Amino acid sequence: MNETSKKLGAHRSIIREIFEYAARKKKELGEDAVFDLSIGNPSVPPPPVVQETLQALLCNTEPTSLHGYTTAAGDIEVRRAIAEYLNENAGIPADPAFLYLTVGAAAALTSALGALLTPADEAIVIPPYFPEYRVFIEHTGARVVEVPAKEPDFTLDLPALSSAVTERTALLVLNTPNNPTGTVLSPEELTALSELLRTKEKEYGHPIYLVSDEPYRELVYDGLKAPSPAAYYDDTLVCYSFSKSLSLPGERIGYVSVSPRAAGASDVYLSVMGAARAMGYVCAPSLFQRLIPACLGKTADIGIYDKNRRRLYDALTSLGFRVVRPAGAFYLFLRSPEPDANAFLEKAKKYGLLFVPSDSFGYPGYVRIAYCVSPETVERALLAFAALAQEYRLREKES
Ligand code: PLP
Repeated sequence: MNETSKKLGAHRSIIREIFEYAARKKKELGEDAVFDLSIGNPSVPPPPVVQETLQALLCNTEPTSLHGYTTAAGDIEVRRAIAEYLNENAGIPADPAFLYLTVGAAAALTSALGALLTPADEAIVIPPYFPEYRVFIEHTGARVVEVPAKEPDFTLDLPALSSAVTERTALLVLNTPNNPTGTVLSPEELTALSELLRTKEKEYGHPIYLVSDEPYRELVYDGLKAPSPAAYYDDTLVCYSFSKSLSLPGERIGYVSVSPRAAGASDVYLSVMGAARAMGYVCAPSLFQRLIPACLGKTADIGIYDKNRRRLYDALTSLGFRVVRPAGAFYLFLRSPEPDANAFLEKAKKYGLLFVPSDSFGYPGYVRIAYCVSPETVERALLAFAALAQEYRLREKES
């Protein structure tokens, strides 16, 4: 028996635990009594092009071809379409020969990390971070090195990053727009980070890769565009998913794209293929591969997330909560009014409110609120937040 795997299976993801608790409570108390703000499961339907293309594919394609295996890396026409889109529309250097379709961003990440890391290596992550990064990195035997983002805006702490890079640093995982803070890294920050990494590469005489996790690339507000780190730094592997942009999280479709400008790009790609193969990640779902060319650049109606974002930010701050104003993704990072965010969650449960304490994001003292829910749920949840704020006497403490 592999004890590490057994332990991982026994200690479930806290996000999924709360999500499942919410489902049980909804059955017990009714849908309207529980406000599940725990999981990033989009509530907005996929854009019409998804249904239309799927229907056309099902009606017009010969079934054995449609549902058959593609090559391990995915259909070459689909990879061509994605690479062309990335080059022309997203400023991301891409080559279909270096692109591997995966079952979502999770498999893109495990394939990229598995390709690059050995037990002798260190991988830098920026707390607060998507909790699975630690699981994925430790699975390779490499060591996780945490360099927390800088408050109040959760931007990169460049001096701390510079000190954290060592001879053993193989890569840095970056996530912009960010889960859980909603922070979008600016061109200036990405330029400075790239310079820092290039200097360190020269100093240590080996590549330091960026694994850029970008499932929220298109989910940005106020007319902002989220620049991709790949446009600034050559040694980048982009991990992407259509889970959030197209509201298709259950269909499991995404990709890893090795920049053709990356050091040893051909070998890195071979290693991605090998890592994916070793985990059984060959031939991402065929039907959903073929959906992708028609959907590049399209998104679900993110106006609904924007509406929720504004409403929650304004209302929660006026109730006395301290919240980071998110520029992208669909999460709010709210400071727990007491030091232990788990104790805060327990109090919130009494009002039917469910969100995720930030401990598992490597950054205690906050909670993550997923606002990819309906505006009606937001309105009802705000009544519960008002009661919770009163319990903590937040307004009185402010005055
Ligand atoms: N990376 C981040 C930052 C995420 O928030 C998520 C999902 O919530 C993933 C990766 C995994 O995405 P997928 O569902 O496509 O595997």
